[in-house]
Amino acid sequence: MARTGKQYLEALQQNPPNLWYKGEKVEDPTSHPVFKGITHTLARLYDMQHDPKYRDILTYEENGKRYAMSLLPARTKEDLARRSAAYKLWADANLGMMGRCPDYLNAVLMAYESSAEFFGEFADNVCNYVKYVRENDLSTTHCLTNPQVNRAKSASEQPDPYIPVGVVRQTEDGIVVRGARMLSTLPTADELLVFPSTLLKEGPGADKYAVAFAIPTNTPGLHFISRESMSIGDSEYDYPLGSRLEEMDCLTVFDEVFVPWERIFILGDLEKCNQAYAQTGALMHMAHQVVVLKNAKTEAFVGLVSLIGETIGADTFPHVQEKIAEVIVYLEAMKGFWVRAEIDAKPNKYGVMCPDRGAIDGARNLFPRLYPRIAEIVHQVGASGMITLPSEADFESPVGPYLEKYLQSATLPARERVQLFRLAWDMTTSGFGARQTLYERFFFGDPVRMYQTLFSAYDKEPFKRRIREFLGWSEQPKAEVVAGD
Ligand SMILES: Cc1cc2nc3c(=O)[nH]c(=O)nc-3n(C[C@H](O)[C@H](O)[C@H](O)COP(=O)(O)OP(=O)(O)OC[C@H]3O[C@@H](n4cnc5c(N)ncnc54)[C@H](O)[C@@H]3O)c2cc1C
Repeated sequence: MARTGKQYLEALQQNPPNLWYKGEKVEDPTSHPVFKGITHTLARLYDMQHDPKYRDILTYEENGKRYAMSLLPARTKEDLARRSAAYKLWADANLGMMGRCPDYLNAVLMAYESSAEFFGEFADNVCNYVKYVRENDLSTTHCLTNPQVNRAKSASEQPDPYIPVGVVRQTEDGIVVRGARMLSTLPTADELLVFPSTLLKEGPGADKYAVAFAIPTNTPGLHFISRESMSIGDSEYDYPLGSRLEEMDCLTVFDEVFVPWERIFILGDLEKCNQAYAQTGALMHMAHQVVVLKNAKTEAFVGLVSLIGETIGADTFPHVQEKIAEVIVYLEAMKGFWVRAEIDAKPNKYGVMCPDRGAIDGARNLFPRLYPRIAEIVHQVGASGMITLPSEADFESPVGPYLEKYLQSATLPARERVQLFRLAWDMTTSGFGARQTLYERFFFGDPVRMYQTLFSAYDKEPFKRRIREFLGWSEQPKAEVVAGD
């Protein structure tokens, strides 16, 4: 059932994840200086589910109970529209800057549950697990990629075969796994989803990596080793995003972790691992959430760069107008992908209504390339205002009156003008902002291999045929070997 923020925070206090920060175990993330911002932000998102203004968008009713909309089974195009309205509401609340809103991985869980047959003997495990997540409205994180030790070699050829997560042994009650995965964003989730990694290759010893399961984030032997925080403080004025949205990213280590049978979804089947995302519709549903989130993010950038241009009078210059219009064009393109993903949606063989693959692939391949350009435009329009950023304390100090005078702008008093530019800095330039750019480049996978996959999977034949016809070839002429002397 849809839970409240208080319930999320209490659950986290009672069962804190095995989380390490700068050599120390984080005992209570809800009050820890680095993790409290994101946990309270997530709590606010859960609370929105109970706000009469948002309740009908963020939750759906079944047998008199309300559940998170992101777990509504997608059977019709109307279901997709209801799901995306919920994604958008949460995304807007954080300007599209939170990657691991629980709706992201709920989209995968919903698709797995609705295509449970795919999982064969483990189908009941999938259904029972998703039911458990739905009933308790849990948040999840995930970790997919293997440690970056030697990318030129396969998983089993690494210096130790258990550098990637692999099954060490099976027992009567489950399996024991060892190894690590590169990273989990949002370690302050209730559960960790360990789903198939990047494409698994056949080969001796490869089956041990073919595994999918879910475990609580406080499972014995599991360790989330966090990076350092990129937010410098907790003033919402000084660090408008970092103070609230530092999700944190962790190396995830599995030291002889026991996984009970009921939490296993795939075991020893490489082909199933490689097909799970595509066959169940999970890929399209995850990416659907992503497209909506990126729409919210691009809208936020249109608002930001327009306000910056306006407040310093720079939007009177044609080249600035052109740059703002460029961001608007990107927004309209992203909207187009979103709308078409839903209009051209089709059911998969399990009856899951899946957003259109072409639109989804277009969006997820294009956005990583647009995003650095959007950040660059903010720099180009904001210029030195992006770095002339006194803090809240400076305004209260003896030099405050100077700031009020010299940092005023055409449309705003100095405090609000600096507040706006601090947001621009946190969106693009601070440690938090720089991580956003890295995130956009990679979070959905390696952009190079994503393009290669698109190249291979895309049906280019109808367009090749049109060219042949235009050139008057009834059939394609056969190439002949023409050798030199
Ligand atoms: C901020 C951030 C947050 C993230 N959060 C999560 C998360 O919550 N959960 C999660 O599971 N993952 C997360 N990721 C990881 C993300 O899935 C990976 O970054 C992405 O899949 C690329 O893998 P990699 O980083 O291991 O890059 P690598 O695979 O190590 O690639 C490094 C370079 O080598 C090239 N390369 C490597 N292998 C090949 C190959 N076979 N063919 C051609 N080129 C190759 C790549 O193109 C790239 O240039 C996150 C990443 C970032 C940056």
